[in-house]
Amino acid sequence: MIPINLNIRLELVLRILSSLVGFIFLLLGLGFLIVPDILATVFYVEPSRAIGINSIRGDLGALFLGMSFFTLLGSFSSPRWLLIPSVFLILVLLGRMTSFVVDDLPMVMASSVRLELIFLTILVLALAYNSYKLNSEENRSFFQEFHNWKILTAIGLVSMLTICIFISRRQIGMGLWNQSVARRMNQNFVTNLPDGLHVGLAGTGAPIPDTKRVGVSTFVIAGTHIFIVDSGPGSTRNLELMQVPLGKIDAVLLTHFHSDHIGDLGELILKAWTTGARKKPLAVIGPGGVNTIVDGFKQAYALDSDYRNAHHGSAVADLRGNGGVPIPINLKDKEKNFIVFQNSDLKVIAFLIDHRPVIPAFGYRFDYKGRSVVISGDTLPDETLRRESRDVDLLLHEVLDPEMLSIMNQAAAQSNSEVVRNVTHDILTYHTFPEEAARIAKEANAKHLVFHHIIPPVPMTIFHQAFLGDSRQYFDGPITMGIEGMLFSLPSNSQKIEKGWLLR
Ligand SMILES: [Zn+2]
Ligand SMILES: [Zn+2]
Repeated sequence: MIPINLNIRLELVLRILSSLVGFIFLLLGLGFLIVPDILATVFYVEPSRAIGINSIRGDLGALFLGMSFFTLLGSFSSPRWLLIPSVFLILVLLGRMTSFVVDDLPMVMASSVRLELIFLTILVLALAYNSYKLNSEENRSFFQEFHNWKILTAIGLVSMLTICIFISRRQIGMGLWNQSVARRMNQNFVTNLPDGLHVGLAGTGAPIPDTKRVGVSTFVIAGTHIFIVDSGPGSTRNLELMQVPLGKIDAVLLTHFHSDHIGDLGELILKAWTTGARKKPLAVIGPGGVNTIVDGFKQAYALDSDYRNAHHGSAVADLRGNGGVPIPINLKDKEKNFIVFQNSDLKVIAFLIDHRPVIPAFGYRFDYKGRSVVISGDTLPDETLRRESRDVDLLLHEVLDPEMLSIMNQAAAQSNSEVVRNVTHDILTYHTFPEEAARIAKEANAKHLVFHHIIPPVPMTIFHQAFLGDSRQYFDGPITMGIEGMLFSLPSNSQKIEKGWLLR
């Protein structure tokens, strides 16, 4: 027998320890709920798509809050409630052990496993001690419930099912592949869209690398016409994942020739050529100098084009459709605009913006059956942009947060990173701040402002409000921080702006 004094002390210690575990779960649950990005990074479960943040907040938040609830209940009332979080922890550990055996991945979560084992030990000790202390019929029957044949049969069946799945994972993998490939091939999101203007964000980043964003690129679908505005590094892959039929693109429109806007042009032209079996080269429209860019990419891809033609033949890789056709825009007057494309329903114009010393640099406006979108290009707050954005439905504006950038600048100065210090200082003079973009949206009477070329990188949503600063004071309408995969649908002859996701 344990002496009474020791008994009380032991119970107190176990209750304190188990309540500590409960509070840690509570903090984790609240963390996943409130700052999912940060906890996701700590737990190595960063979402690969923006929508994943939703699952992390919901699923992991619920798991830890639930475990916290029962752990605290068990700590402050009857310890029998500790059985629930204990079962969860056993399952978590089982999952981790399976992963170490099956996935052939490094044991990056080893420290978490140690912590979970400690937590489980505390909870099981508290449970066992409670069972020993009471030793009552009621308490025994509580544990005896888990020895009845129904529960044991259920555990046996689940174990057998798990082993069957494990053994047949090759067949299961091939079956799923079979299903998903067929489904994916039969999907055609463009033909499923209602008539209207559809604007998708394939890239919203800038030259400073961002784990969540690639180089800037936007697709605009107007009825049956498809345009790509800019082709930043990595964006072609996203366009394909978003199921934009690259083979059917009418034209690529370049705002200017900074590398973060043209880095993927070679890939884009190549994919448009091969996936569309094009017989004519792709039109690439942009400022004077676009010839140099298009010819340069054609030269860089010349050997690859020959290989593909030799391998697949002209049915897939017809050399007549290889490369791009540069179409320079001749516009020098900021008071005027340039019609890039026009028919009875659709009008696309280019206008000059201020991205000095990059001259010329353009923004674009699309008008289709009463709906409109402006894409700013890289610019300082600009009067022509404001004028051409008059009454626009969707204003996609580039944006730079000076406060965040100056913090980077100071950090660079402290760490003697001269280049970063200079760059983070120099780029302040040719971009637009969030508040300035919001004021332009207000003065132009835009309906919805979207930031789509975001400087500096803000890879977590927790930074978004800090980034937006006071911009909501200047613009009453919605302001959206653009993320890869976002789709804005503007059905023709309506007022609606619907937001969707193409990268899940
Ligand atoms: Zn630029
Ligand atoms: Zn840029």
